[in-house]
Amino acid sequence: MMSDVCKHCVNAPCLEVCPTGAIIRTEFDTVYIQEPTCNGCRDCITACPFGVIHVSAEKHIAQKCTLCYDRLQHGLVPACAQACPTQSIQFGPIAELKARAAMRVDALHSRGETEAYLYGADDSILGGLNAFYLLVDRPEAYGLPSKAQAQVPSRSVWPASIKAVATSLVAGLGAFLAFGRRKERVAASEREEATSS
Ligand code: SF4
Ligand code: SF4
Repeated sequence: MMSDVCKHCVNAPCLEVCPTGAIIRTEFDTVYIQEPTCNGCRDCITACPFGVIHVSAEKHIAQKCTLCYDRLQHGLVPACAQACPTQSIQFGPIAELKARAAMRVDALHSRGETEAYLYGADDSILGGLNAFYLLVDRPEAYGLPSKAQAQVPSRSVWPASIKAVATSLVAGLGAFLAFGRRKERVAASEREEATSS
């Protein structure tokens, strides 16, 4: 089973692209969509590398896991962590969870499960994930993006701009050369006409 929750990314791509300010960072460091401010543009769906946002067929607005924001506000644990009978899903202060997870990885390594590692617990993926995983295979095997695939949109601005400028320069040079060749052909044709007359 895979808990496909919002990762409440430290550098959240969805929050970066939302044009209306509907997506906010809460007092619990979670990422939350304010329904009344969402216009249903879907930019956040494209930006999220984890595919955890969908548009409500009834309300036509973006929706995702809120990490039970309403329960957190009342001092309660998110429902998934509360309900899980094996504590596969755990909730708590992020530093405590990371320390607990590191011990779990060490325990697995000592038992021979040397492939075990933490995904998203350090800052290498989007500055860190506030919902991180203990995995025993590469991320793609679980439907999760690799470090290279999970990028904030602003990281693509400079490469995309440089590419656009380079493409314009090449197109401009091509047009210039084509114009030069056409001029040469016209001049040659005029010379031929002058010679024959
Ligand atoms: S997992 Fe997706 S929806 Fe959740 S904070 Fe990260 S980018 Fe936003
Ligand atoms: S669909 Fe809503 S939450 Fe998502 S980017 Fe657009 S306005 Fe923001």
